[in-house]
Amino acid sequence: MSYSYEAPVSQALFDRASVVTPGGVNSPVRAFRAVGGTPRFMVSGDGPYLTDADGREYVDLVCSWGPMILGHSRPEVIEAVQAAVARGTSFGTPGEGEVALAEEIVGRVAPVEQVRLVSSGTEATMSAIRLARGFTGRAKIVKFAGCYHGHVDALLAAAGSGVATFGLPDTPGVTGAQAGDTVVLPYNDLQAVRDAFAAHPGEIACVITEASPGNMGVVPPREGFNAGLKELCAANGALYISDEVMTGFRTSKAGWYGIDGVAPDLMTFGKVMGGGFPAAAFGGRADVMAHLAPAGPVYQAGTLSGNPVATAAGLAQLRLLDDAAYAKVDAVSAEIRGLVGDALGKEGVAHRVQTAGNMFSVFFTSDEVRDYDDAKRQEAFRFTAFFHSMLADGVYLPPSAFESWFVSTAHDDRAIERVAAALPAAARAAAEATGEGVRA
Ligand code: PLP
Repeated sequence: MSYSYEAPVSQALFDRASVVTPGGVNSPVRAFRAVGGTPRFMVSGDGPYLTDADGREYVDLVCSWGPMILGHSRPEVIEAVQAAVARGTSFGTPGEGEVALAEEIVGRVAPVEQVRLVSSGTEATMSAIRLARGFTGRAKIVKFAGCYHGHVDALLAAAGSGVATFGLPDTPGVTGAQAGDTVVLPYNDLQAVRDAFAAHPGEIACVITEASPGNMGVVPPREGFNAGLKELCAANGALYISDEVMTGFRTSKAGWYGIDGVAPDLMTFGKVMGGGFPAAAFGGRADVMAHLAPAGPVYQAGTLSGNPVATAAGLAQLRLLDDAAYAKVDAVSAEIRGLVGDALGKEGVAHRVQTAGNMFSVFFTSDEVRDYDDAKRQEAFRFTAFFHSMLADGVYLPPSAFESWFVSTAHDDRAIERVAAALPAAARAAAEATGEGVRA
């Protein structure tokens, strides 16, 4: 496919980056491989806008993959960061900021009685699984196809498989031994979970699930699915781990738990709670968390855990996220969803806009998407055409058909009007797409 616009400075930076960094990026999806074209190198963000190295401004519907729920460069967050930086950037000792952030999390999310701060969502899920294994004395874990929990070795097992099976590593570098204790099941299928517990009595340490998946596109849990997981875990002596790295403090004050009210044994957080800095966490039942070093025997640590600058940013962001802020994000999301649906509908493009709170994504299929296999059945080549048309018209979407879109409190009428203005051409491009020349 050809692109009707150029980004020469980004292209030059990408060429330079590709010499010194594998694939030119520090996280694969940023390379635009799913959609082709030149990844945009961003130089600044302001409210709902990003500006790239070529000086073009975009309405940002990625929000750094979730964290920037107040938009970019929100003054109160920047001020908190600047004040923290002025006091020093890392002490390697406890500090009050991390206590305050932990209190804020515990205060918002009732099932979290204690919390440990880490630096990435990957670290949070890795540590939660280690803790679940240490607490139960069991080895096996259950995850769902299409759910992403970071690049933890054991969780990269058969993430693309919709079939109930033992995990086979789906990336080189993950050994059979690392993946062999991972049972991968189809999402939204409680019977598969029942069967797994029956097949491995007394062996499953935990079930980990995205509270509401956003990593195969937005595929919310069916009514009763999370409650069923909790029940099955409790009945079989396993822990129910809800990964709220994406949904946490985004879909409500208490994340997805604030919406479905199903109390997990352990939860993981990241993204929003870091205010754009590397801060993440895992927490839950105090009796389980008591097994964590130095209170208990399960080791976990981090040089930069609870970093004072990251905690200051996260705390400042969370303190601004009151009911009015969530109402605003929900309203922006509803408006943009409506505009996208209308535009695609007008062009007769088969699509489904699926939502989970204010997270949403567009699947290019008319069928409901309930699991990863459904998601893969969409006509992703239409997304590619849609994406590039939006990009050319100054709207930055996630560069993959299998991602959630994210909005913020900063998306005002002007930003939404710019999205609305870009949509008709993008919908036409999606309608006319044939899939020819699209990179896999
Ligand atoms: N869990 C979920 C649900 C995620 O969406 C992500 C990242 O997108 C992670 C874990 C990993 O977080 P990080 O990228 O901070 O390691």
